[in-house]
Amino acid sequence: MHRRTLNAAQVAEFEGVLLARRADVAAQRSRLDGSLADVRESRSDGMADDEHDPEGPTMSSEWSRLAGTQLAVDDDLVQVDAALERLADGSYGTCVRCGESIPIDRLRARPEASLCIACAQAVGG
Ligand SMILES: [Zn+2]
Repeated sequence: MHRRTLNAAQVAEFEGVLLARRADVAAQRSRLDGSLADVRESRSDGMADDEHDPEGPTMSSEWSRLAGTQLAVDDDLVQVDAALERLADGSYGTCVRCGESIPIDRLRARPEASLCIACAQAVGG
């Protein structure tokens, strides 16, 4: 096994990328919270809605879509936070499954990646 730690410039590069990504994801999360609150409000307040059935398919599918997106965004946030932790403890850039180093090109394409390409394929992610 070859364990390669990133140099200081690379650590700084990925820290910047991850912090920017975290800010993006957090902003997306709070927009979603607002949208979900809007949908929840219009669902519970039938009087404000001209439709006879505020629980109808349109609202339900919008709700499902937003809730699904929210789960994906939460997952992104968890992964970005985990990557920042690995960056702090020096294990960033090392596959958490096999211990091989993750190619820098893969990290640039997907900075929150915790698996090397082979392991990502092996686990289907
Ligand atoms: Zn691996």
